[in-house]
Amino acid sequence: MRVYNTLSKKKEDFVPIKEGEVNMYVCGPTVYNLIHIGNARPMIVFDTARRYMEHKGYKVNYVSNFTDVDDKIIKKANEEGVDPSVISERYIAECRKDMEGLNVKTATVHPKATEEIDGMIEMIRTLIDKGHAYVAKDGTVYFKTRSFKDYGKLSHKNLDDLRSGARSLLVSGEDQKEDPLDFVLWKPKKEGEPYWESPWCEGRPGWHIECSVMSRKYLGEEIDIHAGGEDLIFPHHENEIAQSEAANGKQFAKYWLHNAFLNIDNKKMSKSAGNFFTVRDISEKYDLQVLRFFMLSAHYRSPLNFSADLMEAAKNGLERITSCVGNLNFMLDKAADRELTDEERETLKQAEAYIAKFDEAMDDDFNTADAISAIFELVKFVNTHADEQSCKALLQALKEEIVMLSDICGLIVEKKEEILDADIEALIRERQEARKAKNFARADEIRDTLAAQGIILEDTREGVKWKRA
Ligand code: AMP
Ligand code: ZN
Repeated sequence: MRVYNTLSKKKEDFVPIKEGEVNMYVCGPTVYNLIHIGNARPMIVFDTARRYMEHKGYKVNYVSNFTDVDDKIIKKANEEGVDPSVISERYIAECRKDMEGLNVKTATVHPKATEEIDGMIEMIRTLIDKGHAYVAKDGTVYFKTRSFKDYGKLSHKNLDDLRSGARSLLVSGEDQKEDPLDFVLWKPKKEGEPYWESPWCEGRPGWHIECSVMSRKYLGEEIDIHAGGEDLIFPHHENEIAQSEAANGKQFAKYWLHNAFLNIDNKKMSKSAGNFFTVRDISEKYDLQVLRFFMLSAHYRSPLNFSADLMEAAKNGLERITSCVGNLNFMLDKAADRELTDEERETLKQAEAYIAKFDEAMDDDFNTADAISAIFELVKFVNTHADEQSCKALLQALKEEIVMLSDICGLIVEKKEEILDADIEALIRERQEARKAKNFARADEIRDTLAAQGIILEDTREGVKWKRA
């Protein structure tokens, strides 16, 4: 597998630090509102990368944070007259709902910044002790950027160019900095803001320190992959590297992956310009699987344009796959249960070529655009090579192949028909009759049929009770 590393600006062979295991950190959203479709892009593309690596047999430890202390959260809390945690908890819950709709797997850990303050204080203390940070008069702690000689290695910026740019960026309150390039690790509380005790002042952490701390706590000092949107390369990820490597004395992350931006109708997404959609907005018009499919139809490093036409095209594309699987299921119901013919064996062999094509695309820096093309080619192949005369084993194997590749992309292409309550009860009655007639084979068969649909039976003194698993 090869991945494009922002650090080297090259595609590199992927070799994890520990064989068979991948430790991966993806910067998560700031939770002050419903997530927008731009936020959904890193969630979907890196979830797909995770699924692919799991498919290849890696154990993936995936950590993604929720930034739950931030100016925007505090502002919203003050507007609503509630505690900031009310706002962040509300939008964490909403974000989890959207992730579920998008079929984004839950991370191994989803840490929250406010629950990791002790770790942040500890890392800041280490940075001060090692001479990489200093405390200003009002208790603000700054990272001494020039003390970290590799600063700029991720964004490929030169410290002196940065310095000339930073001069004009000086804002009020920042005049205590020894150098305009220094950035905040800890800042004093302001009226009406949440705060924590610290050795320097009552206050709260800067944004960058949270990811350095959470990544180390849950994944260790050296991790394989750190990812996020390309806007995070500078300053967020550059600052994370400075903090982590200065504190730990080790390389922070081996591979840095960044997704390009999602635009709307070829313009930057912006609330004020009126071209802004939350994931929830989209869910009112489309199944969120369509949004996921749309996001994966481009390579994650290519800018992606969102438009009504492109979403319609995505809907049709996804339907080509789901209807192929639907047809296979329809044929499977009636298909003959016999051995494969030589010709069918040959068909199966040919179909495997599409798996190889899919893997080749994904091995090339998670090229989901080409991987989805491989699924389409497989669908076309299946549509021409499977019919009512095909045997069960062939239809089943072809279906499993399409479902497996789609599943790696996190696409649900097989609609499970919900069994109705009335049908369940009719089957339970039939089972009781069968038992009375001592036809235990039939009774067990019914129990198995129901179990396959996720229905659990319980024999009680009052009769048979059932529940959905
Ligand atoms: P934020 O809540 O702004 O920190 O963003 C959370 C994640 O969404 C980060 O990885 C951002 O880089 C990413 N992101 C924000 N806007 C977009 C966009 N328009 N396109 C792609 N990714 C985005
Ligand atoms: Zn981060």
